[in-house]
Amino acid sequence: MTYIDVILPLPLKVNFTYAVDDDMAQKVKRGCRVVVPLGSKKHYTGIVDRIHHEVPLGYEVKYAFGLLEEQPAVLPQQLQLWEWIADYYMCAKGDVYNAAVPAGLKLEFKPKVETHVRLTEGYRSEETLQPMLDSLKRAVKQQDLLLSYLQLSAFFEGAPCEVSKQDLLAHHNTSVAVFEALVKRGVFETYPYVISRLPEKEQQVSGLKPLNVYQQRALCQIKQCFEKHSVCLLYGVTSSGKTEIYTHLIEETIRQGKQVLYLVPEIALTTQITERLKKVFGIQIGIYHSKFSDPERVEIWNKQLSDNPYLIILGARSSVFLPYQNLGLVIVDEEHESSYKQQDPAPRYHARNTALMLASMYGAKTLLGTATPSVESWFNATETGKYGLVELKERYQEIQLPAILPVDIKELHRKKMMVGHFSPVLKEKMEEALARNEQIILFQNRRGFAPMVECHDCGWVPHCVHCDVSLTYHKHTNQLVCHYCGYTTAVPHTCPECGSEDLRDRGFGTEKVEDEIREMFPQARVARMDLDTTRSKTAYEKMIRDFEKRRTDILIGTQMVSKGLDFDHVHLVGILNADTMLNYPDFRSYERAYQLMAQVAGRAGRKGERGLVVLQTGHVDYPIIKNVMNNDFEAMVHGQLAERQVCHFPPFYRLVYIYIKHRQQRLTESMTAQMTAQLIIVFGEERVNGPMQPAVARVHSLHIGMIMLKIEATASFAQARKLLLQVEQLMRQDARFKSLQVYYDVDPV
Ligand code: ADP
Ligand code: ZN
Ligand code: ZN
Repeated sequence: MTYIDVILPLPLKVNFTYAVDDDMAQKVKRGCRVVVPLGSKKHYTGIVDRIHHEVPLGYEVKYAFGLLEEQPAVLPQQLQLWEWIADYYMCAKGDVYNAAVPAGLKLEFKPKVETHVRLTEGYRSEETLQPMLDSLKRAVKQQDLLLSYLQLSAFFEGAPCEVSKQDLLAHHNTSVAVFEALVKRGVFETYPYVISRLPEKEQQVSGLKPLNVYQQRALCQIKQCFEKHSVCLLYGVTSSGKTEIYTHLIEETIRQGKQVLYLVPEIALTTQITERLKKVFGIQIGIYHSKFSDPERVEIWNKQLSDNPYLIILGARSSVFLPYQNLGLVIVDEEHESSYKQQDPAPRYHARNTALMLASMYGAKTLLGTATPSVESWFNATETGKYGLVELKERYQEIQLPAILPVDIKELHRKKMMVGHFSPVLKEKMEEALARNEQIILFQNRRGFAPMVECHDCGWVPHCVHCDVSLTYHKHTNQLVCHYCGYTTAVPHTCPECGSEDLRDRGFGTEKVEDEIREMFPQARVARMDLDTTRSKTAYEKMIRDFEKRRTDILIGTQMVSKGLDFDHVHLVGILNADTMLNYPDFRSYERAYQLMAQVAGRAGRKGERGLVVLQTGHVDYPIIKNVMNNDFEAMVHGQLAERQVCHFPPFYRLVYIYIKHRQQRLTESMTAQMTAQLIIVFGEERVNGPMQPAVARVHSLHIGMIMLKIEATASFAQARKLLLQVEQLMRQDARFKSLQVYYDVDPV
């Protein structure tokens, strides 16, 4: 008897085993999609992970219903990657399957199909066809139809083209019966033909842009570096032309017949880079991210399995999950970005680190590029020797990095000289820029500044009924929304606490900034790029295109405007309040604040003259502000490394956050306390921090407990994870804790 172990799209720690009948046993391969029963009514599409003859013990084995197709939908390397993710990020393989595979492949995917017609194998040469044509002399209609087919398919010109049944019948106005007669004679056969939703139109391509001397040198160094290392960190200042260097590397890789994965941290970025790459590579490049419709994603997946896959995939983090047949190069652009880490749900994977693993499975090279490396990658490139390092310090055309003008807003607030959130200097610089017909980018940090509604009389603020967070105010819909669970409610007319009608919006969202600008500069054309205005794929693209085409004068945005966008006519960048980035109780806040400010600043003065950044802060004397002003990344990173070594943080230690959830607060608390105690017994007191206060203590009506585990980077992390799972097992032996949810966040960001 043959059995298969199947990965199901469910958060199960183990694979399920099914029996297969003889016919299926002949056909089944690892990676095939298979429909299997589970429970009494349900059936699922699973992925075959293992084929074997070991009789499962202890339960009655069910039969698999059937294979969806004989060709595997998931390649062995993908299964290997899933396994690594499930193990390293401590989640179920089913979670990985769910995240990796488009929903359409978990059902019976129905592509757009037409019925096409071709000659059966015996009649595909002129020698065999001619006697058949002659023999049809007494069946003129059939003969005519066959001749029409030969004409439509360009049979005599060599390579026959596709002919749909519909077109053929329409061509000669023939009845279906005539057609069927030819099928019966064994001349014609029909087959399903899948129509693509993917763009296939050949594009005008132009050649590569020649590199300048600095770029050439960097490219050379990268190639040398790849002789010794499989990973290279390209530390190149903003607008140094990293993208152009990538383009040259991509060209060389595909010339060798190998595939390239180009990862960007934000869907917004794919728009600009797609256009730049399409100019060089045309239809060899495929785009993949979560804003694509599911059928489109299924098509790309299937294309990557076919004989004619895209050679280049440009995408956001989920593109690490696509099938690759022959990967040669991975580029991780803006490698420092924390948006590469998936937060919720599982798998909580880091796409940069997963891409490194993917590349190593193919023996491919990885280039990490950024103007502000993550502390970890910097450490790997300068201390451990794991990565090579290539630096590029000159901006393209040797334009200087922008001048940074700090503005003390604490002082200005005291003197009542701020206009809303604008200092007189920023306002003046904006006036000048607009008068010169230049564009402006304003950056407002997102976190912690969700706009809220507040009662002016008693201070009441509306909270989510399911989560311990205040609700965010959406002005255009006049609704209050929970950004954790999506709970939505109308803004009340009166305060439920004191009955006052004086409810105001408080806080400092980008919407508020937009209103202030419209008041100050009524003539200016303003656009706002944040989570609310960019929900659809086209919204991003339109906003970026409008700004490129100078249909917008001022672009206000959150983190999104900091990430690698390339605009020609931006001279002035305003950072509205740097302090919002500095005050997080998080070991990465300093690093992240530096990266954000340096990146936003990097949008200024990319072409032509040197740009200007107005940096508003209440802490002009803070070292980090000095670091940003001096563009001194190395001072920042050395300070951070020293601190992290002392405080036992990455890259010297690996972190795992352990989360425990339950509806009952008491149960959550007691399990968190007991698990902390148990972890201390196993790992020792220095390695366990807990119970900790999570940022939000209740989400979706579940109370959350949190513990931090710190493991030396030099210790065996695999062993630590094993011990951690044993502790969880042990906890579950307590009957009270059976219904608690426990999950892990490995390498949290
Ligand atoms: P980075 O990715 O380092 O921020 P980009 O690759 O976006 O820099 O380059 C900045 C700008 O300079 C882009 O508009 C790019 O087209 C232009 N540029 C850079 N290098 C070249 C080159 N060798 N030839 C022509 N234009 C270039
Ligand atoms: Zn009130
Ligand atoms: Zn909520």
